[in-house]
Amino acid sequence: MTQRALTTVTRYAILLNDAGLWGLSHHRGVSFCLCLVYVIVICDDKGKGKSTMGASAIEIRGLRKTYAGSAKSPPKEALKGVDLDIPAGSVFGLLGPNGAGKSTLINILAGLVIKSAGHVTIWGFDQDVNPRQSRAAIGVMPQELNLDPFFTPRAALEVQAGLYGVPKSQRRSDEILRLVGLEDKAEAYARALSGGMRRRLLLAKALVHSPHVLVLDEPTAGVDIELRQMLWENIRKLNREGMTIILTTHYLEEAEEMCDEIAIINHGAVVARDSTANLLARMDARTMIVVPEAAPKALPEMEGIRADRRGDGTIALTYHAGQTRAEDVLDAVRAAGIGIRDLRTEQADLEDVFLKLTQSA
Ligand code: ADP
Repeated sequence: MTQRALTTVTRYAILLNDAGLWGLSHHRGVSFCLCLVYVIVICDDKGKGKSTMGASAIEIRGLRKTYAGSAKSPPKEALKGVDLDIPAGSVFGLLGPNGAGKSTLINILAGLVIKSAGHVTIWGFDQDVNPRQSRAAIGVMPQELNLDPFFTPRAALEVQAGLYGVPKSQRRSDEILRLVGLEDKAEAYARALSGGMRRRLLLAKALVHSPHVLVLDEPTAGVDIELRQMLWENIRKLNREGMTIILTTHYLEEAEEMCDEIAIINHGAVVARDSTANLLARMDARTMIVVPEAAPKALPEMEGIRADRRGDGTIALTYHAGQTRAEDVLDAVRAAGIGIRDLRTEQADLEDVFLKLTQSA
């Protein structure tokens, strides 16, 4: 009975999400029913199902997702067979340009999107065999601010704890509010909170059931420096206490600062996966822009340097800082008989790095 009810509720939630109507499920009555059924089922299910936990917090094999098409748009293959192991205890970064498939991947981990094929194991629990245990092992801080405006932060955490079947005696609402710096807003309505405070509340909600794995979807997109520092500190603290952290980000700086390991996703496939230090070493492409005194007859030729003429009359010289010195690039320009009127450099942007890694993968 409860199994069937959970399946129905889960399907309902997933269908809404797949149809982009997730907001509807936040209707008070619907939220309450969802809560109730989850509590019954999670409590009912405790102790069943075995974890086969190894060194990986998450194991993903052959993961595929194709979103159904509509009259106006064809089906979209968002994940094309992803294999990924995320080590327990790590801070793991998922990087990729817009539309790469990052949200699809973490929504599958969170049980909000149904995969088309493949296997996902969270904290040793196969998602298909032990869906509730695998879901209880993970907490997700979503990107969008999907908070009920009529709940206070404390009430929001209590409801969330109820949703996960955390007994009253084990709830840590005030401790979590303190962690995210919202203790003095515990009784304020969510609609009265600033954008930054709402984001912290989302983090707090992801923590109520003390998950082993915390997923943060673009945690610092559009937040100010102060809040970003605070979120980073919180994340580091949780990681020191043993929580495995997965974060998606556009920002190379964030990945560099926070992550032990990084996977880069592009067009639904993992194109690189390495330690942060190794990946950054591969991301040392530089572009020097030379404004010549006169239109050059020939371009510089030297191993390790690629020279391109740009439409504005400048010459773009691309090289790897780890292999070629800026001085060698300038020597090659002079050797080609080109006088330098002006000079500037461009850092490789993430988009270029993705392209490069896609080509070399
Ligand atoms: P990212 O998080 O890296 O920006 P997404 O996982 O959101 O990427 O999207 C991957 C691809 O799947 C994109 O092309 C996106 O347009 C498409 N997509 C995402 N959600 C849906 C959906 N509900 N229906 C159809 N296509 C979708």
